[in-house]
Amino acid sequence: MTQPTLILAAHESALLDASTARVVSAAQSFGQPVHVLVLGPAAVAAQASKLQGVARVLHAEVDGANAETVARVIADLSERYATVLAAHSMLARGALPRAAALSDAVYLSDVVAVPSARGVVRAMYAGSVLTTVQVVGRLFLTVRASAFEALAEATNAVDIETLPPVAKDERSTLVGREKASSERPDLSRARVVVAGGRGIGAAEHMKLVEALADRLGGAVGASRAAVDAGFAPNAVQVGQTGKVVAPDLYIAAGISGAIQHVAGIKDAKVIVAINKDADAPIFSLADVGLVGDLFEVLPALTARLPARIA
Ligand SMILES: Cc1cc2nc3c(=O)[nH]c(=O)nc-3n(C[C@H](O)[C@H](O)[C@H](O)COP(=O)(O)OP(=O)(O)OC[C@H]3O[C@@H](n4cnc5c(N)ncnc54)[C@H](O)[C@@H]3O)c2cc1C
Repeated sequence: MTQPTLILAAHESALLDASTARVVSAAQSFGQPVHVLVLGPAAVAAQASKLQGVARVLHAEVDGANAETVARVIADLSERYATVLAAHSMLARGALPRAAALSDAVYLSDVVAVPSARGVVRAMYAGSVLTTVQVVGRLFLTVRASAFEALAEATNAVDIETLPPVAKDERSTLVGREKASSERPDLSRARVVVAGGRGIGAAEHMKLVEALADRLGGAVGASRAAVDAGFAPNAVQVGQTGKVVAPDLYIAAGISGAIQHVAGIKDAKVIVAINKDADAPIFSLADVGLVGDLFEVLPALTARLPARIA
């Protein structure tokens, strides 16, 4: 098929999410012109029109778009596109499978590489197995944005095509969202993440993790065991059922390295593990391993760093 490729843009209020630029580079691997669909404020469409590698932006204002509405819009456009991609967000995970079903297309999730136009690589079993899937026909996919390089901004903006008004599907309504407020950088985008696991032992000991994170200008993460024990809030859980992070530096303190945790840190550039058990599985993945008691190592590391280095 020589039809263009469509991307569903991710945005938060009036700001285009940085993941969209990464999805553009994934989309380019299909070798066709890349169009971006913005269902939201015109300001987001304007930002998308300046992304490098984008040939056209399609825009419709939709107030509080839900998965059903987004799926219907994509299905209505699907005759024009051979491939539809989105970053693996909650909305895309709801919308793209629905749109694929409405369009008689194949849906694949958690795609981490696109080696050829019809073959994609996806992560399975919490990233322990990578499978290459060949697809015949129309393909809809959600990609792990952190696995793709972001493209820079283009010098010229491309055309924005205004779509007919979209009627919201009323079958589900977003009642509200509670955002955890923090002065630290967003976990999914932070350059440095310091995470604590069950080895932290108590909620009040998370301050050791926070102190090191603050020295490094980083975000705080936690394993699911630490979250389940009430040491850290759910919003900072890293892993298969938490956030996927891709920092330059990931420091794991008192975390054993279960596959479900590792699934969330595979794209970290440098992994430092602090664990008192020299046989902990995290050491087989870590670039730097420190066998020791985190109650000694974390304060010592923090004390040796200048007030704030990032
Ligand atoms: C379907 C499913 C989804 C899951 N999703 C996730 C997920 O998204 N994220 C996630 O993290 N887990 C997830 N899990 C849970 C996962 O399997 C592990 O149970 C969890 O990651 C373990 O967390 P932990 O490493 O903190 O705890 P543990 O495995 O108990 O490890 C604690 C570590 O701390 C070390 N330690 C103890 N005291 C100290 C000390 N004083 N100094 C230094 N080291 C010390 C110990 O040696 C040990 O290695 C999931 C599980 C399932 C079944």
